[in-house]
Amino acid sequence: MLKQGVNKFFDSALQQLHEASQTLELDSGIVEFLKTPKRMVIVSVPVKRDNGEFNVFMGYRVQHNNARGPYKGGIRYHPEVTLEEVTALAMLMTWKCAVVDLPYGGAKGGVACNPKEMSREELEKLTRRYTSMIAEVIGPLVDIPAPDVYTDEQTMAWIMDTYSQLKGYQIPEVVTGKPVSVGGSYGRREATSRGVAITTREIARHLNIPLNRSRIAIQGYGNVGYYAAKILHEWGARIVAVSDSKGGILDERGLNPEAVMEHKKKTGSVINYNGAKTITNEELLELECDFLIPAALENQITEKNADRIKAKVIVEGANGPTTPEADKILYERKIAVVPDILSNAGGVTVSYLEWVQNLKRERWSLEEVNQKLEEKMVKAFADVVSYGKKYETNMRNAAMILAVDRVAEAVNLLGIWP
Ligand code: NAD
Repeated sequence: MLKQGVNKFFDSALQQLHEASQTLELDSGIVEFLKTPKRMVIVSVPVKRDNGEFNVFMGYRVQHNNARGPYKGGIRYHPEVTLEEVTALAMLMTWKCAVVDLPYGGAKGGVACNPKEMSREELEKLTRRYTSMIAEVIGPLVDIPAPDVYTDEQTMAWIMDTYSQLKGYQIPEVVTGKPVSVGGSYGRREATSRGVAITTREIARHLNIPLNRSRIAIQGYGNVGYYAAKILHEWGARIVAVSDSKGGILDERGLNPEAVMEHKKKTGSVINYNGAKTITNEELLELECDFLIPAALENQITEKNADRIKAKVIVEGANGPTTPEADKILYERKIAVVPDILSNAGGVTVSYLEWVQNLKRERWSLEEVNQKLEEKMVKAFADVVSYGKKYETNMRNAAMILAVDRVAEAVNLLGIWP
């Protein structure tokens, strides 16, 4: 059913698995098992629109592997959602959870729709119907969804409520990324960015680049980009450039992230911010700086611009911002890349902490959550560095080898039944 050659992201996910498996000399049967998701659910979701018409949207939930624990992964609403894309993202979640050593497997969900053209009421109907159609395969100890592109805290509250209504009692632990008032965790909103900031600080230490004298450029000023800028600025780094879909701004003296966000809220973009020079997104990516943090979309650093990247280090906030071809060029040019499955794993880590709080019926303080996140990210960074040394490879390959090694070990120990 899954087709290779139709989705670049899916093809490169398989390629990465293939390479890590070869390094680890895994049995070909195990590789075949890891290449294929354990379950793929496809549903058609009918929604009665505000104008009275019916539309049917295709929805997916792909559960890749659960050898290390329940499936975990977000739900994405986007017109280009396909089974191949959701599968690649589910696989990525298996590796990401393994890198940070969370007791989870990987899953992903999606509905092919354009949320920008749907009213809040229509999105609520879509979410509730989709939830009811996948309710049989999700659950607090089975598969725990979370937000992804164009889904948010409100979407998670609707999923929690629909699932709870179907079961007859309140079950907050069925989703993470919920509003704090219905069982969400303190620190979840900025968790991905805090993880990005922690890995930036760790690689800075590792490469002897003083963070408090470093210059940072960030592409994308949404949830991940903004909070990463804010935290790194608080830690003394100079944020020299940021951008969004309309363009970028540069100020060598350093930008104030909160003031830039105020400006973006008022005007709809970061551009034309007080005294800063306007630049294009291409120029931002090619700026001379210590750290470049792509935090917008996939496929931003490609074989077309990898030769012109002047950052010393790239820390991936987004999923898949660097293509495999660009990766090779950056490696040859000795530009370090901290890969997405490590650097943006802070979000799923605090999702895990939210789930544990829900299961234990506890509420932890922000300080406690941040401390636990710090420990997990620092340990994961050190594990990836040590795999890099052991296998004499870059951080992307090292993170993949570490993840596949952990998952394959669990698969081997559990065995294949019957
Ligand atoms: P978001 O929608 O809040 O923000 C995206 C930002 O990117 C916006 O500022 C948008 O204007 C900007 N953007 C869009 N197109 C652009 C372009 N062509 N050039 C420059 N900027 C552009 O999304 P987010 O939650 O911040 O997620 C960003 C990335 O991080 C995605 O790849 C997402 O999958 C990944 N990610 C997010 C989380 C999370 O917890 N939010 C966790 C892991 C990974």
